[in-house]
Amino acid sequence: MFQEKLTFWLYDSGSIYPIWSNLAEVPAFEKDNVMASSASPSMENHWMPFSANRDFKQDPKMFSRAEGVWYYDREGKKILDGSSGLFTTPAGHSRREIAEAVYKQLSELDFTPSFLRSHDKSFELSTKIAAFMPEGLDKIFFVNSGSEAVDTAMKMALNYHRIRGQGNRQMFVSRERAYHGVNFGGVALSGMVNNRRAFGSALPSAVHMRHTHIPENKFQVGEGEHGADLAEDLARIIANYGGENIAAVFVEPIAGSTGTLVPPKGYLKRLRELCTQHGILLVFDEVITGFGRTGRSFATHSFNVKPDLITMAKAITNGAQPMAAVAASREIHDTIVNAAPENVTEFFHGYTWSAHPAACAASLATLKIYEDERLFERAAQMSAYFLEGLFSLKDLPVVTDIRGYGMMGGVDVAPMGGPGARGYQWQKRMFESGLHIKTTGDAAVVAPPFVMETAHIDQMIDIMRTTLKAF
Ligand code: PLP
Repeated sequence: MFQEKLTFWLYDSGSIYPIWSNLAEVPAFEKDNVMASSASPSMENHWMPFSANRDFKQDPKMFSRAEGVWYYDREGKKILDGSSGLFTTPAGHSRREIAEAVYKQLSELDFTPSFLRSHDKSFELSTKIAAFMPEGLDKIFFVNSGSEAVDTAMKMALNYHRIRGQGNRQMFVSRERAYHGVNFGGVALSGMVNNRRAFGSALPSAVHMRHTHIPENKFQVGEGEHGADLAEDLARIIANYGGENIAAVFVEPIAGSTGTLVPPKGYLKRLRELCTQHGILLVFDEVITGFGRTGRSFATHSFNVKPDLITMAKAITNGAQPMAAVAASREIHDTIVNAAPENVTEFFHGYTWSAHPAACAASLATLKIYEDERLFERAAQMSAYFLEGLFSLKDLPVVTDIRGYGMMGGVDVAPMGGPGARGYQWQKRMFESGLHIKTTGDAAVVAPPFVMETAHIDQMIDIMRTTLKAF
């Protein structure tokens, strides 16, 4: 069989390569697969997510290797990573410590059923993650993606209310321009029309507050002075639908994917007050902001507002393994767990790969790097330099707004033709000039790895400037 030919692994300069002992013995179709991996593979079969597939396949943007703050394309050209992959990789790419931990784990215990069975690392990791959480928010449920974390948190909210005799709380509140992933729950919560319009109306019930991207806060570094009153949208929704019908309010403390929308001063605190007053749960979706992006471990600490549930993903393994989690308050956890009779499953939810051993090993190695290299502190220290560089783009006429907080920034460019057309062209030009940055519509979302040096930041800003000047 195919696996039998995969006889050993070779460590070489931080990468791990599978080596086949005797290629001549590999049956023809398997050999073709092996050979194909070194030449350009066919573009026929991979239907890519969230991509302009036809354009990509005409003009593929492929990475073949990554190390530190650099990606490398097939020809070995270096591409600076200005978005930490997809906000996943603050400690830099291809960290040997993580690769080794995953290799060791897979060699020792490759898989454990996640229902009724477990392994030490899942418990060790949950204790480590709980230590980052505000007091009392320390019950950690593992899943595999941010989208799963969001849907899991929705279920926890519904289950919690139902047990307390408040099963009428079926509605959710979120925000325009929010991104909460792509599962049905997350799509309902997200405030992005393209993510919803193709899929009909069979979505959970969600009402959206207005977003907080307002002209009064243009070119504002950090939290805006204006717009705390936008939290009163929640008061209106409560008045309109009845607070007793609302299960939870979901917000990203800083809305990431739609361009780093930093909350106005006092906004999150007001949401907390209203939720508490009306018995509504507050959920912070920290899939991007978690693990140091704001300069603290989690945004809940940066803004000093404590939610009832926190979702996290991405940097939990420095991007090296799919993993995500929900931190739930003891109150939510105990209500659900203690309501069930002995010897009966309490929460009817979970995934085959919840707390996968390799993901737990990757996450433990990642958290050790964050701690040993004091990377959250480094993010806080580098922030001023990064934001100064980013805001220096303000003089370009094509730039219509810039926002930033910690090691996260958003740069809006004036639309050209249809919405998103300029943003799309811009990211392609940046890539061709050696810089990877994620754009959504006409906004670039800049999120450098925390291990970037000032010279890398200078280079990133230079490429952004040069490519923008060409418009
Ligand atoms: N929630 C937020 C705030 C996100 O930014 C994302 C992804 O970017 C998600 C949820 C979905 O995460 P995933 O793509 O891992 O499903």
